Amino acid sequence: MRLDDWLREAVRRLELAGVPEPSTDAQMLAALALGRDRVYVLSHPEQPVPAEAEELLRRREAREPLAYILGWREFYGRRFAVERSVLIPRQETERLIDVCLGLPLPAEADVLDLGTGSGCIAVTLALERPLWRVLATDLSMEALGVASANAARLGAKVGFRYGDLFEAMRGAAFDLIVSNPPYVREGEPLQPEIARYEPPQALYAGPDGDEAYRRIAAEAGEWLRPDGWLVVELGDAQRAVEAFERHGWSVRVENDLAGLPRVLVASRLARSSRRS
Ligand code: GLN
Repeated sequence: MRLDDWLREAVRRLELAGVPEPSTDAQMLAALALGRDRVYVLSHPEQPVPAEAEELLRRREAREPLAYILGWREFYGRRFAVERSVLIPRQETERLIDVCLGLPLPAEADVLDLGTGSGCIAVTLALERPLWRVLATDLSMEALGVASANAARLGAKVGFRYGDLFEAMRGAAFDLIVSNPPYVREGEPLQPEIARYEPPQALYAGPDGDEAYRRIAAEAGEWLRPDGWLVVELGDAQRAVEAFERHGWSVRVENDLAGLPRVLVASRLARSSRRS
């Protein structure tokens, strides 16, 4: 089939399947099948499309995220390999990076990324601030494999530890602890791409979506230097703020580009000697 005919048919099928951006996705799938880029796809209408394109189209029709089909997603201007063991990096999370880079931190800061997944936060920070010593943890060995491969391919020096939140830590202290933890309420309706394909342990955090926040709020004080910073991505801002204030943190909230509360920045209050 000619590329232009294939694209027309693919857009129609993706639309029927409820895919939000059928044209872009059809072009990306054709590009993948052809081993070319989108510019090529748009400028070669007569090019025959290889038979494998049908299988890629079927996967997207079943609402598999484009990033898993392509095997990568761009984050902060770099390509990160992704597979189904890791959450796909989100554009909103780039806000977390900007907030971290804007904090008054030592030139050679010790940084910890909790639940690194694809490694997008840890690797980006290590590349943007080559003097920082960055450590990343995850409770999934598969995720650590993906993250360390991303670090190696992008040339980032990041240490990796296996474990649930702080369980991986032994006697270390950090100037910055950053995390995009799970924060979705169990039972919350999500689009099929997320609900069917992304790793549940990276998404769900109990009936109120605040389990990870509560654990981080309770435990992070032990691992953070007194003048250190904690930066966490937000789902429900109010619940997160409550969890952190209850543990004596002084918090502020930063919005993302869509104007939604997206990043919580916490530091210790003078009165926070009451650490739990
Ligand atoms: N932002 C993701 C979503 O939209 C959730 C990521 C997370 O729980 N950290 O579903």
